[in-house]
Amino acid sequence: MHLRPSLALICAAAALAACGPRKPTPEDARKFIDDAEQRLLLLGIDSARADWIKSTYITDDTEAVAAKLDERAINANVEYAKNATRFDGLALDPVTARKLKLLKLSLTIATPADPKESEELTRITASMEGAYGKGKWCPSGPESCKDIEDLTKIMAESRDPKLLRDAWVGWHAISPPMRKDFVRYVELANKGARELGFKDNGAMWRSQYDMPPDDFAKELDRLWEQVRPLYVSLHAYVRARLRAKYGDAVPASGPIPADLLGNMWAQTWDNIYPLVQPPNADPGYDITALLKKRNTDWKQMVKYGEGFFVSLGFDPLPQTFWERSMFQKPRDRDVVCHASAWDIDTQTDLRLKMCIQITGEDFLTIHHELGHNFYQRAYMKLPPSFRNSANDGFHEAVGDTIALSITPEYLVKLGLLDRAPDTSKDIGLLMRRALEKIAFLPFALVIDQWRWKVFSGEIPPEKYNETWWQLREKYEGIAPPVNRTENDFDPGAKYHVAANVPYMRYFLADILQFQFHRALAQAASCTGPLNRCSIYGSKEAGQRLNAMLEMGQSQPWQDALEKIAGTRQMDASAIRDYFAPLQTWLDAQNQGKPTGW
Ligand SMILES: [Zn+2]
Repeated sequence: MHLRPSLALICAAAALAACGPRKPTPEDARKFIDDAEQRLLLLGIDSARADWIKSTYITDDTEAVAAKLDERAINANVEYAKNATRFDGLALDPVTARKLKLLKLSLTIATPADPKESEELTRITASMEGAYGKGKWCPSGPESCKDIEDLTKIMAESRDPKLLRDAWVGWHAISPPMRKDFVRYVELANKGARELGFKDNGAMWRSQYDMPPDDFAKELDRLWEQVRPLYVSLHAYVRARLRAKYGDAVPASGPIPADLLGNMWAQTWDNIYPLVQPPNADPGYDITALLKKRNTDWKQMVKYGEGFFVSLGFDPLPQTFWERSMFQKPRDRDVVCHASAWDIDTQTDLRLKMCIQITGEDFLTIHHELGHNFYQRAYMKLPPSFRNSANDGFHEAVGDTIALSITPEYLVKLGLLDRAPDTSKDIGLLMRRALEKIAFLPFALVIDQWRWKVFSGEIPPEKYNETWWQLREKYEGIAPPVNRTENDFDPGAKYHVAANVPYMRYFLADILQFQFHRALAQAASCTGPLNRCSIYGSKEAGQRLNAMLEMGQSQPWQDALEKIAGTRQMDASAIRDYFAPLQTWLDAQNQGKPTGW
């Protein structure tokens, strides 16, 4: 999740009627989109530069300049998206038609035509995001206040059930005040989406995926059913371990309390690895220690990442990458250390922004971030509208695919490790990865399942909280740690719900990365267990990857998937393959114990 955050777009449908004096022609449409592409490109570059300066030198002034240039770019985008609808129904060449479609679908919310309602919706969305950002838990007076960063640390590190529960309840008290706003937001966002021809706001979000919105929803359920047996096994094992630690607070056969999984939203569980660690599963090496032993510096860390791509046949990064990136935390000013990959001019100006530490975690992160950079460079040759990933799940999936190739064998090839450990030691690594990636899948699914039902009216406001927990129980086997009622509004305690950010991309990225990894491992003629395959050094894998990357968003994502995986369907069976040794191990642990909830 480390791409430079794209600008959230709000479209007013107000000017839809302003169609000009005569019926537009296909030639008008081509001219329109050419003009839009050029202008938005230039505005985007200005705002990217301002954002870069703001992120690497935080002051009131740099923030003000960046906000202004961002707003200018967003407003222009909204304007063009509105005007693009006047070409609806015209017979256009496929390239122009796709560019116009992408322009219209770049909006995450459409404000209604009525100016008062439009203003109201804009105000409400800003206010909900603001309320989330200011959210704090103050257990004993103003001095004791904890923000979400403090609370994240408590949830990750504390093993005191009382503190965990208090922190959970404390944070979830920030959202009930949002509830009234949220009801109105749903009404108004739906109204705007309907004015643009969508059934509701959820249908507008689902329309991004090159297939009918309802078919896309069915696809996700199909993918989830493929992974579910592995999740159920993981859940049963973790529940038994947590019961051994916390006693009757964790039921023997029911859902797991949401506050005991190491994360405020129970969305990833790797923070509780020490509690569920399989015995004798230590891989026998630690990347941080290996890097330190060799006195690796930040430049060598990035060189390792670049070297990975060069080994696949990609050109080395441009000189400007080394000159303009931020690799280390400056001593004299505030910066945003959160790692991100940038393509400032969408031409050659690639950059990495990171405060590199010599750790195994940052070693992985660098490979991941450079995945974004090499994707960006591969699609730069395309027209500006197509300079993006095939769908929004693809960008993250590519970075993570590369990180999956950081195997012990890869470390041996780099000379960091003398000998790869026996595969019998893999259970620990697989467990950690499953706690992060398998635990996440049903969570990612629930967030937008819930919102889609809210937008469609299937879930009425008086059932917001009840249905939230019904879905969480059904998909995740998770329950609230204390009784909840409709006086609570627990969905609003998650950033993406409060801030109107669609979430399904994270589910897709999690599925796709394993499918990409398996396809590339096959191209690299890897015959070992999938979790031990690294595509490092394989020109065949590199060509396959590049064939997908260089398509950008120019074709439906199914075409891009076909280039890399030889199929037009997403397939979660690669996840089952990857975790097959863990599945066998979990089955043995769970023997004779209850599974499911
Ligand atoms: Zn990322």
